[in-house]
Amino acid sequence: MNYPASPSADNQTPPLTDYNLFTTDPALQASVEAEGAGSGAARLAAAGAALGTAAAFEHARLANRHPPILHTFNVRGERIDAIEFHPSWHVLMQGIVTRGYHSEPWTTVNGQAIRGAHVARAAGYLLQAQVECGTLCPTTMTYGAVAAMRRDAWLTSDWVPKLLTHEYDPQDIPIGEKRGALIGMGMTEKQGGSDVRANTTKAVRSSDGSYRISGHKWFFSAPQCDAHLVLAQSERGLSCFFMPRRLPDGSRNGIFIQRLKDKLGNRSNASSEVEFVDAWGHLLGEDGRGIPTILEMGTYTRLDCVTGTAGMMRQAIVQAVHHARHRRAFGLPLIDQPLMQSVLADLAIESEAATLLAMRLARAFDSDADSEIALRRALTSAAKFWVCKRGCELAAEAMEVLGGNGYTEEMPLARMAREMPVNSIWEGSGNIMCLDVLRTFAKSSVSRDAVLHELQLALGLHRNFDAAFERFAAQLAGTPPTEAHARRFAQNFVTLMQGSLLLAAAANPGASSVADAFCATRLSADAGWGAVFGASGAAIDAAMILDRAWSE
Ligand SMILES: Cc1cc2nc3c(=O)[nH]c(=O)nc-3n(C[C@H](O)[C@H](O)[C@H](O)COP(=O)(O)OP(=O)(O)OC[C@H]3O[C@@H](n4cnc5c(N)ncnc54)[C@H](O)[C@@H]3O)c2cc1C
Repeated sequence: MNYPASPSADNQTPPLTDYNLFTTDPALQASVEAEGAGSGAARLAAAGAALGTAAAFEHARLANRHPPILHTFNVRGERIDAIEFHPSWHVLMQGIVTRGYHSEPWTTVNGQAIRGAHVARAAGYLLQAQVECGTLCPTTMTYGAVAAMRRDAWLTSDWVPKLLTHEYDPQDIPIGEKRGALIGMGMTEKQGGSDVRANTTKAVRSSDGSYRISGHKWFFSAPQCDAHLVLAQSERGLSCFFMPRRLPDGSRNGIFIQRLKDKLGNRSNASSEVEFVDAWGHLLGEDGRGIPTILEMGTYTRLDCVTGTAGMMRQAIVQAVHHARHRRAFGLPLIDQPLMQSVLADLAIESEAATLLAMRLARAFDSDADSEIALRRALTSAAKFWVCKRGCELAAEAMEVLGGNGYTEEMPLARMAREMPVNSIWEGSGNIMCLDVLRTFAKSSVSRDAVLHELQLALGLHRNFDAAFERFAAQLAGTPPTEAHARRFAQNFVTLMQGSLLLAAAANPGASSVADAFCATRLSADAGWGAVFGASGAAIDAAMILDRAWSE
């Protein structure tokens, strides 16, 4: 039989794979150095090479094309609550754990934290997010959980060492037999997620000091994890409990997975609804003070929402510029069309600003200095709000640069556009983050001082920055913003921080063009900025900015 010849594929863009995600990103490399993790550059370059392969992108596609399946019972009718993942999920998780992104900063050498460990890990996480994000859910929850677990004697001896290994062991077996473990978190119930005080799940103390927990969680991601930190009401109020999947004797704990969520994105990851029936729990932290205990974990996962989003933004802009360099329309490559340049340059500016902010924020987690603790207290929620919101818009715009191809599942951008909003929703939705920012500034003059000190470092470097700083400082000194204005306040704060970081990093013409363009657009007093990408009207050096973003 004669088949028709293949149609020609003129003017189609070659897939962008097999490149080094780290060494092709000058902003990330400079930022890793500036924020104190330069010694990690070689490992990041190795990770960037491994993650940029066609095979890695294919594993990401497959893990999302074949979402996890819940098996409630085995063939004999026994309850097993097992989750079946596509093999590509395990390949990606193996890579993450081998690189230590689930816990490495908590490893100490002679009792001392490793210098720059949170920054180095954040940079790796940013690379990993460019490929696949569902696998980052158990990754970030484990990273955050260690923060909350490391002061508990039992957990420190029996559990934390299993979290610090670089061995991925997905088996559902007792912790004593495992080579490595992962942790999840359960706060959200049907009647309230943001307002966790509405939680109704009950914890009753047993004579041996452990607790029996009954109730439910409406969102309980990565239920295959070896344990979860959960909130439940004890006699003293909302408390945090460590709830293992299996008890020390090997039997299953009373945690029953009802079903898996059918989600817009984040499809490789299993998010479940669970019922607890007399589940065994170990009190973590002070009885009745569960919110601050679990929020210690939440601060780290919020950092990862920023970093993960910055990673997806970077991949989106790289894919978009790559496409625009190859695709021609109306007789010219898209990259040479002035309006496309405006859009792409605006996206590149946003991506670089997000990268620098994520790395600076990670540095605040590397230090115990009061000023850094105060800075991260103020900046984490604000950055999570702003970067995650910008990520949603950026992904949609970058997808459009690819035209119809961008909207298909063969390209990573459709998946990223679906993935972006979850970083904005979970770990505290946008409004909740902004209200937290207001509370922090209202409560703590230390945070206010730390923020002003940080911003002052960039004074005198750009007229727009100086003017925006004066407006923000006056706002801090005056009547506190109302809740209705919390988003605007957080936006002003974060864009100033981003401006200061870009100005400080403007050591070469490319970086300087990005900093100038950022200040000319985001820090202009013109309130009309930001409606859509590419519409600022400011004079910017688009060619220079795009060369810096992605040249080939
Ligand atoms: C894919 C996915 C996985 C998840 N995994 C987990 C998990 O593993 N563990 C877990 O505990 N949770 C998980 N969540 C739940 C998530 O953290 C919550 O959905 C989120 O915190 C919001 O809570 P909610 O859904 O109850 O919405 P609500 O709290 O009802 O909020 C609805 C909206 O109202 C806004 N809002 C609330 N209060 C105010 C206010 N005072 N002023 C202005 N606006 C307000 C919020 O910002 C939000 O936009 C997951 C969610 C998703 C989508």
